[in-house]
Amino acid sequence: MRKTIIAGNWKMNKTVEETKSMLIELKKLMTGKESVEVVIGAPFTSLESAVKAVEGSRISIAAQNMYPKSSGAYTGEISPEMLKDLGVEYVILGHSERREYFKESNEFINEKVKCALSYGLTPILCIGEKLEDRENGRTLEVNEKQVREGLANLTNEEAVKVIVAYEPVWAIGTGKTATPEMAQETHKEIREVLKAMFGDTSEEITIQYGGSMNAKNAKELLAMNDIDGGLVGGASLEAGSFIEIIKAGL
Ligand code: PEP
Repeated sequence: MRKTIIAGNWKMNKTVEETKSMLIELKKLMTGKESVEVVIGAPFTSLESAVKAVEGSRISIAAQNMYPKSSGAYTGEISPEMLKDLGVEYVILGHSERREYFKESNEFINEKVKCALSYGLTPILCIGEKLEDRENGRTLEVNEKQVREGLANLTNEEAVKVIVAYEPVWAIGTGKTATPEMAQETHKEIREVLKAMFGDTSEEITIQYGGSMNAKNAKELLAMNDIDGGLVGGASLEAGSFIEIIKAGL
């Protein structure tokens, strides 16, 4: 059985105080009966207080990036060891904003995925095509390359621990969502790529959808066969809208 995981990606938002108050509110709104796993990707500066704020709840905390070394002369970077030390459990890797603004390559992202796994962190590997790729019929080609190169040289035992987040770049922060059918088609294709790489293990790999998921469209998207959760940006910034997405995954 695949896990359904609803993860929020707060990006560069929220101070420590804002982090605490949103998580306290979210905890109050959760009933304890949620069958989905809930993850919050907080900024580095809020990770420690986020981990403390979710103690005793079913919410886990993710970092939004990490450097693939345990320590050393990498000014400004954060290591997996530091994340583990804080009690962080997940790490979002290869988000399209990091690929675009920080020129992260598939090879570098693969290094991060492998390093995260070696420290017992669960990587959320983001992939997704740009609008021009979709319009030129290159959706599968682009996603296949990102999956194959991002998950290169992983064993089946490692692959099953990875979460893939399919996020069409044209749907991120734009209010344009892939239709459930369109998203399902791509998720199915991604699972076929995973099958070619990892055989039947592919059936156990969680593939989240991301891109303007909100309280209104979450239920339909999450009802699709190969959509096993969501990676949510904008709608994860308020407890009221995020809880609706969590409920849609029940
Ligand atoms: C994201 O950044 O991962 C994302 C899906 O953002 P949004 O939900 O705002 O489109």
